[in-house]
Amino acid sequence: MCLRRLFRSSHLHWAWRAAFLKHSRCGHQGPWRWTHSGGGPYRAVIFDMGGVLIPSPGKVAAEWEVQNHIPSGTILKALITGGENGPWLKFMRGEITKEDFLQEFRRICSEISNTSVPVDNFFSLLTSEQVAKQFPVMTEAIIQIRAKGLQTAVLSNNFYLSNGKSFLPLDRKQFDVVVESCVEGVCKPDHRIYKLCLERLGLQPSESIFLDDLGQNVKAAASLGMRTIKVNDPEAAVKELETLLGFTLRTVIPNTHPVRKTMEIPKDSLEKYLRDLLGTQTTGPLELLQFDHGQSNPTYYIKLAGHQLVLRKKPPGTLLPSAHAVEREFRIMKALASAGVPVPKVLDLCEDSRVIGTPFYLMEYCPGLIYKDPSLPGLEPSQRRAVYAAMNRVLCKIHSVDFKAAGLEDYGKHGDYIPRQVQTWIKQYRASETSTIPAMERLIEWLPLHLPRQEKITVVHGDFRLDNLLFHPEKTEVLAVFDWELSTLGDPLSDVAYSCMAHYLPPSFPILRGQASSATAEQSGKMTEFMSDLAWEFAVKEGFRIFKGMPATKPLTRSYHTWAGPRSLPSTPGARSYIPLPEPSSAHASKGALVISPEGLSPPVRELYERLKQFMDRHVYPAEPELRRHQASAERWTPSPLVEDLKEKAKAKGLWNLFLPLETDPERKYGAGLTNVEYAHLCELMGMSLYAPEIFNCSAPDTGNMELLVRYGTEEQKARWLTPLLEGKARSCFAMTEPQVASSDATNIESSIREEDGFYVINGHKWWISGILDPRCQLCVFMGKTDPHAPRHQQQSVLLVPMDTPGIKVIRPLTVYGLDDAPGGHGEVLFEQVRVPKESMVLGPGRGFEIAQGRLGPGRIHHCMRLIGHSERALALMKARVKSRVAFGKPLVEQGTLLADIAQSRVEIEQARLLVLKAAHLMDVVGNKAAALDIAMIKMVAPSMAYRVIDRAIQAFGAAGLSGDYPLAQFFAWARALRFADGPDEVHRAAVAKMELKNRI
Ligand SMILES: Cc1cc2nc3c(=O)[nH]c(=O)nc-3n(C[C@H](O)[C@H](O)[C@H](O)COP(=O)(O)OP(=O)(O)OC[C@H]3O[C@@H](n4cnc5c(N)ncnc54)[C@H](O)[C@@H]3O)c2cc1C
Repeated sequence: MCLRRLFRSSHLHWAWRAAFLKHSRCGHQGPWRWTHSGGGPYRAVIFDMGGVLIPSPGKVAAEWEVQNHIPSGTILKALITGGENGPWLKFMRGEITKEDFLQEFRRICSEISNTSVPVDNFFSLLTSEQVAKQFPVMTEAIIQIRAKGLQTAVLSNNFYLSNGKSFLPLDRKQFDVVVESCVEGVCKPDHRIYKLCLERLGLQPSESIFLDDLGQNVKAAASLGMRTIKVNDPEAAVKELETLLGFTLRTVIPNTHPVRKTMEIPKDSLEKYLRDLLGTQTTGPLELLQFDHGQSNPTYYIKLAGHQLVLRKKPPGTLLPSAHAVEREFRIMKALASAGVPVPKVLDLCEDSRVIGTPFYLMEYCPGLIYKDPSLPGLEPSQRRAVYAAMNRVLCKIHSVDFKAAGLEDYGKHGDYIPRQVQTWIKQYRASETSTIPAMERLIEWLPLHLPRQEKITVVHGDFRLDNLLFHPEKTEVLAVFDWELSTLGDPLSDVAYSCMAHYLPPSFPILRGQASSATAEQSGKMTEFMSDLAWEFAVKEGFRIFKGMPATKPLTRSYHTWAGPRSLPSTPGARSYIPLPEPSSAHASKGALVISPEGLSPPVRELYERLKQFMDRHVYPAEPELRRHQASAERWTPSPLVEDLKEKAKAKGLWNLFLPLETDPERKYGAGLTNVEYAHLCELMGMSLYAPEIFNCSAPDTGNMELLVRYGTEEQKARWLTPLLEGKARSCFAMTEPQVASSDATNIESSIREEDGFYVINGHKWWISGILDPRCQLCVFMGKTDPHAPRHQQQSVLLVPMDTPGIKVIRPLTVYGLDDAPGGHGEVLFEQVRVPKESMVLGPGRGFEIAQGRLGPGRIHHCMRLIGHSERALALMKARVKSRVAFGKPLVEQGTLLADIAQSRVEIEQARLLVLKAAHLMDVVGNKAAALDIAMIKMVAPSMAYRVIDRAIQAFGAAGLSGDYPLAQFFAWARALRFADGPDEVHRAAVAKMELKNRI
């Protein structure tokens, strides 16, 4: 699901999102008191209450008198009657109770108007919630003043209510200082109360601005040296205050700008339309702003007479029929609002293009909180949980809408939503593809084969994520879900998947920050690659889930024949037996000892061996049929997810990177730190299955390359290449052999490495490059000539070439007896003008031969160790087979030739193993160089021994032995190939002979 955003061609979703007040919780609710950064000489604004922050008693009275047929002006006159000693001022100084005041007030009003006046009724209205409400323009102004670091105060002539509380229908938190006449016993315009207020603010009079609607109060303040504003109309007063302070006091509508010239809409006809829509009494000018991200569907903020609206229109010009479907957005929001889903309230759809040139719709502007960062910084874990719980609840609500009842039955196609989505993504990806992304190729193959089997149909949002939700500023409640541009009828699982995406993406990922639409092509490429890898990880996990979900009996469906042997090790009669050496006492007592059986290994290594054996039994052998099936299938060039899963499991069990010898990695920084002898036993066990080495990250050519990097790599080279290889996240290849020269002789290698402008430029033709076709292959260790005129062994150099470097062309995969060894394969490759930075050189120019020798030392013997494993497995399979099949009246095993073959195989395996162990032992105790003769001998012996043993097993199997049902055919091909790979038999034979003649005459 998560790839969809990358493929979307339009930017239209941003417009909608921008249509709502967006700010992070931190920004909005951060500390009230910021450093003083505005306001010029002023450091505080002091507000009167009635007439400034809330309606004045005079204004309330005027309307009330009309409605209650009381002579106009009665209340006002009564309020000032008696001056300082009149009931009103006494009441405001807290000297009389409400009841006493009303009694006296009633009397005065009746005298003035010659009629009975229901003053209780007036008083209730004056103090009612619906009248005593703070003007929004003042609320905005106070927020802005405080945001600039200035103080605010309310200095009010007010009174006590019957409940003993003072009348102050304001949020006290808005003010640094609150001064109430009834509490202080002093009223404006008495100077003392102004001074009290200033004192509490800690300011001089000239540092404050005072706002009041009564002239006498303003005068008193001015006489003290305060700057004053006489308030007749709150809006106008705020404008005056803005001029004095020098900054805006209006809430800025986020993500808006003045309407661009090319995006202007006819204001007059829009205004007329809006006045008709909202009612004729609406007054005031029309304010119009444009949201920043409305390139696709231009979106505007409108303020008209206290109404705040959002207008969303189609862009001008000719449009594709299905694009910019504002009608659909309007329709779904309207229907969902009726079904109880919180959505912005849509007001009107105008399809008449004559009004502003295109169809448009209007919705209410909703202020609230939008959490832009899905990690919800600044919130407690419990609050985060609450936010996500609210998000889930609203998603459930969307998915529970009865779309038929909501009139949305025809809102989208019914069924096959996810298959259709997948096809659309593939099409869109192909249309915008710039280079091959291996994980994407795998996904394109994998996804259609792994679609959910069951499907539900509901309304789907299509882009359900946290920053498309508007939250209540105080409660954890979703006020509105917006961005319905991709909504349709579909499978609700897609919304669930999409909403979980933020959990898996790194916090810096641009999609989470709403920058995807402005990403450069290169950035989008990187994002696509990242997302593909991430998605592929899910595919791998899914493979593992299926595997785990298989019934417990399933692994037992393997045939006895494919299974025979390994399980019986080492104690079953007839299986390989050992002569155990005395148990070494310390952990590494086996270093320096020729341990000829696993029982002789030190306890920790023996434990490791047992763990490995158990893993082979439980996981590797049972997986073989599936892995063989995969290798024969059309998906074989995509690594099997099962292998990836098993890799994770092996890693978790510590069965990982066992190959790195102690001598190369003495601090055990990278691997298990086994000796060559110890590893020989474990490696033989891995050799029982062709798939095992990779599962334990112990397979060629990575092992040789990793060792090369450990030994010769710089820290930078290690960080870039060794780490992902050790983690099993990347694979590598080694490119030496060339078709046009006899490559048994490494000095023949012709590929050129030229220095040019601080780079090395490679040109060459290679083949039999194992692993190069693997989509995970990221590194090519390349051998070529830097100086053809240098002494023969100093002409070659080794470069680390990233596989995505331009100029590397894999011409074809080669086959071994028709087997292509997917997914790594063996490739024929052209390197044409491949440029790599100079830091890609290993060790230095001319040192390639030396490196290749070092690289092949342990690698060569690993092949031999594994070949012993192949042979053991082949013999085990053969024994099992001949015991169970009858020909010419008796079991095959009773045929003399087969007995001879079995005996011969056992003898040959034992001989070869002893030689392998001896070579490994010498490598441990005298080093690779001194062990050269033994390495050459075993390399000469092991492949042909294995070749013969496996050949006998195949023969005993009958035709089945050649088939893909058993590992024999592949073992055979591989043993044959190893008579060439890493040097043909003859080369080793020649080396043995040379040393024999030199040393032993
Ligand atoms: C399955 C497989 C995987 C491989 N993977 C890789 C890889 O990843 N990277 C890579 O660079 N290469 C790889 N190779 C190539 C392998 O290393 C070469 O095939 C090998 O070094 C031989 O080179 P060549 O094929 O050019 O044979 P040549 O050098 O042409 O030799 C041909 C034959 O000449 C004979 N000969 C050669 N030298 C002598 C001698 N001194 N005395 C007597 N006879 C001799 C032998 O019979 C030899 O087989 C792979 C090969 C195979 C089959």
